[in-house]
Amino acid sequence: MAMPWRQSLRLGTYLAKQKLLRREKFPILVELEPLFACNLKCAGCGKIQHPHDVLKQRMPVEQAVGAIEECGAPMVSIAGGEPLMHPQIDEIVRQLLDRNKIVFLCTNAVLLPKHLHKFTPHPNFAWMVHLDGLRERHDASVCKDGVFDQAVAAIRQVQAAGFRVMTNTTFFDLDSPQDVIDVLDYLNDELGVDHMQISPGYAYEKAPDQEHWLTVQQTHQLFAKAFAGGRRKKWRLNHSPLYLDFLEGKVDFRCTAWAIPSYSLKGWQRPCYLLDDGYTATYRELIEDTDWDSFGRGNDPRCANCMAHCGYEPTAVVATLGSLRETIRAAAG
Ligand code: SF4
Ligand code: SF4
Repeated sequence: MAMPWRQSLRLGTYLAKQKLLRREKFPILVELEPLFACNLKCAGCGKIQHPHDVLKQRMPVEQAVGAIEECGAPMVSIAGGEPLMHPQIDEIVRQLLDRNKIVFLCTNAVLLPKHLHKFTPHPNFAWMVHLDGLRERHDASVCKDGVFDQAVAAIRQVQAAGFRVMTNTTFFDLDSPQDVIDVLDYLNDELGVDHMQISPGYAYEKAPDQEHWLTVQQTHQLFAKAFAGGRRKKWRLNHSPLYLDFLEGKVDFRCTAWAIPSYSLKGWQRPCYLLDDGYTATYRELIEDTDWDSFGRGNDPRCANCMAHCGYEPTAVVATLGSLRETIRAAAG
């Protein structure tokens, strides 16, 4: 089953407008990182390696909201670090919702029970909880025992309080197709989250664990086997069918990282949040001063095994809306 209808409708309207305005490059979703600090130390994380003085910084509310307004994206995914460690995170969320943005607040959920009272359910708001597998696998991924149980308890608590909950699961070469099936069945059927996001492990340059990234071939094999027999249709995945085809190796796309840019304490990250080739002060400068043709698989060796959502989901979404057949397929789920 595909993305939530409200999100699809909003996205469709926004993309139609970009086409009418003949814009070639535009933002669809911003990865907003208002801090890099976190309460966990996951081996695959590329954010918590920043120096201590950077980890202490928190982005002012006006700066966060101003960056989103300048770029004009309809959707914002707030990550970090752990956003719940930002003392004004609720105000950032509120101001973005007031500006009619669709907001996903990413969290490892450990601090969620303590901060839940600061938030109210809203049709354009969802919690996005990081869960990299079932108990043993997730606790190993975040390098701490007990976090899976804390995350599941927090999910049940926010569901009971009337919030939409999504999950984000990253798979590495330690995961088998059956692991993918088991965790998605659990999240979909047992925990009953609203939607699930999946990612092949990102090749973060700064992550301490550099051994378990997936190659393109491994990604194709993993998802082709996990999705076999039409299994993926029953899962409420927050992805376009074409992006899932891409993960399986049924189609190929070029990277359009300009559509899911990353804005952090350092500015707009070039070219995407996986690579770090400098920063610009505005989204406009990022678009105009970046040689986009020099990135993506086949163009930059660092991109060779990247199939990340931030580079390829936008290409899939635009291809979906450019084809009547794919639009009907996406709407059918
Ligand atoms: S929870 Fe997220 S931000 Fe925190 S260390 Fe893990 S991957 Fe990094
Ligand atoms: S392929 Fe695109 S999204 Fe992936 S690392 Fe390269 S520029 Fe970033």
